Amino acid sequence: MDTAYWAMRTRLIADARPHGPGAPLNTPIEAASTFELGGERGYSRADGTQTWHAMETIVGGIEGGRALAFASGMAAIAAALHGVAPGARIAVPADCYLGTAALLRAGEHSGRWSVSWLDPLAVDAWLAAAVDHDVLWLESPTNPLLHVMDLPRILGAARSERCLTVVDNTFATPLLQQPLALGADVVVHSATKFLGGHSDLLAGVAIAADRAQADRLHEARTLTGGVPGMLEAFLVTRGLRTLALRLDTASSNAHTLAERLAQHPAVTSVRYPGLTDDPGHALASSFMTGYGAMLSFDVAGGAQQADAVCRTVRLIRHATSLGGVESTIERRAALPGQDHVPPGLLRLSTGCEDAEDIWRDLKQALQ
Ligand SMILES: *Cc1c(COP(=O)(O)O)cnc(C)c1O
Repeated sequence: MDTAYWAMRTRLIADARPHGPGAPLNTPIEAASTFELGGERGYSRADGTQTWHAMETIVGGIEGGRALAFASGMAAIAAALHGVAPGARIAVPADCYLGTAALLRAGEHSGRWSVSWLDPLAVDAWLAAAVDHDVLWLESPTNPLLHVMDLPRILGAARSERCLTVVDNTFATPLLQQPLALGADVVVHSATKFLGGHSDLLAGVAIAADRAQADRLHEARTLTGGVPGMLEAFLVTRGLRTLALRLDTASSNAHTLAERLAQHPAVTSVRYPGLTDDPGHALASSFMTGYGAMLSFDVAGGAQQADAVCRTVRLIRHATSLGGVESTIERRAALPGQDHVPPGLLRLSTGCEDAEDIWRDLKQALQ
């Protein structure tokens, strides 16, 4: 069936379902490490299972490339860097996801590559980096400062260069931005977050624009063994079915909360690209189809007051991670290596609860 003309929200629901009389509507959890020889598959670490393929078909379909499922977002990120030549120069936003930063720093210290930590908003520095770096590692909006990078310009400039471009699309999801269409070579996700959507699994996915990149990722996964579990792949597939519904509700909640937080006397600033006075608003509006469900805000009184908010919320859960149906809040500067994050900044992953209930909870905690 040609499903390519369907809207993404239709494909999320309709793709990768078994067909035929008596077929189950969902791809089963295929518990297999090995297969009788002579067929297309021999051993699942190399060849995958039906359960992984269902997840990969859906994600690849909506990102517009060839997807490979991984054990976690970090496994996908490590695979995207696996084939990078010794001594490579890698440019990365200074405020990128802390796990990515730690991995890049470890490679820097061991002499595997050198890293330029660039201001995500300094477009000229990125355009220059496209010329003299081997890898541009992009993440937008950034975690947790919600900076919007000029992906169309940077990826457009990098297209004519030989550097590898990778975009961490975890915050936006393919529903809100499509880096491969903008010229990226590889997209990575922590499927632990919005794709899975229920805080009940760890998984990752990397999507390649072409076969050569996909083969590289496949080799990395086979050699390093960062493969997803069968139950996790099944649960991500199940989560993908409702991604559009969850993201619609969570993004609308985030917008409402961002507007109200901006008016609250105990809040000194709000970072959410959907706010018309946010520095990233115009840029986000130019290439994203929505502003997402992540926001950050600074609490007057700094770390102490922000910690008090985390202790006082009841509906919102004080927990790391993001992208679940339940709202979670965290003071990111409390984590190691996050010195660039203002001490009183709280990152809120807005869930799908009723907006008024989340707001009441935040209001009582801010008091
Ligand atoms: C969580 C996260 C990751 C890492 O994913 P894991 O599934 O925890 O390994 C990578 N990038 C971003 C933006 C994240 O939020």
